[in-house]
Amino acid sequence: MNFKDIITEVYKKVEAMDDQGQLAAFIPELANVDSQKFGVHISTLNQVNFGLGHCYETFSIQSIAKVLSLCLAYSILGENIWKRLGVEPSGTGFNSLVQLEADHGIPRNPFINSGAIVISDILLSNLENPKEDFLTFVRSISNNSGINYSAKISASEKSIGYRNAALCNFIKSYGNIENDPSDVLDFYYDLCSLEMNCKDLSELFLFLANNGSNTHNNESILTKSQSKRINALMQTCGFYDESGEFAFKVGLPGKSGVGGGIIAIHPNTYAIAVWSPKLNAKGNSFKGMKFLEAFTTKSQLSIF
Ligand code: GLN
Repeated sequence: MNFKDIITEVYKKVEAMDDQGQLAAFIPELANVDSQKFGVHISTLNQVNFGLGHCYETFSIQSIAKVLSLCLAYSILGENIWKRLGVEPSGTGFNSLVQLEADHGIPRNPFINSGAIVISDILLSNLENPKEDFLTFVRSISNNSGINYSAKISASEKSIGYRNAALCNFIKSYGNIENDPSDVLDFYYDLCSLEMNCKDLSELFLFLANNGSNTHNNESILTKSQSKRINALMQTCGFYDESGEFAFKVGLPGKSGVGGGIIAIHPNTYAIAVWSPKLNAKGNSFKGMKFLEAFTTKSQLSIF
């Protein structure tokens, strides 16, 4: 499979498209991002590393970090984690409150904001220095020890975080948040503010194509079964109420963030990262979705 040729061809095609998305201006700092950025990078298990466009420029990975916080919490608590949240697609927007009352404060899955807030609470209870320990975990999987949070982005999100504060307090009222909501939210905003480039992202997520083991040193980050389950969750819940569409059009486990990044995994083959900041109506990168659809169509490789 010549990924380089396919990526080059698809990149050019999508670059020329009219971008019908909008910047995630609800987080004030994200309104300042250059909307013309477009980068892509693939890392394969057989050592192909290839990127195009703005693939070496850092951006805010936002909800993509929810996969990493889930992995760390899962590696600590094992299956007990599922007492606190579910594994069903929500079919609602990423910041929706609507199902929580009927579900008695148990979020449908870890990739909507409510679920990621519960995961943040779990990490706060189980890590000695949550902010530092989470960063150490991410850097230990990555090739890049310079990966960091953005204080500017987390402060910006906190300044308008009324909806997330409502989610956290509502869940707390059902007893499914152990810590002080303001501490949980601060940590959640820090997680969402993580920055890296497409190359970092595809390299970082390659362990999920490799049965949960770090490709550099073969260290196990998750068990094979846990890694399979994270991929299953990305497949069913990674794009909020556009998860079905992503499975239908792209056919890979993946996760998006409102910074315009998307990571997608082909188990046993590759991880691919795309970044284009303008989002479609469901909060997923407009060009990122188009790119991945054309990429898996051209390469004729998907998990189905
Ligand atoms: N930090 C964002 C929020 O809580 C994450 C949302 C996203 O990337 N979908 O609204």
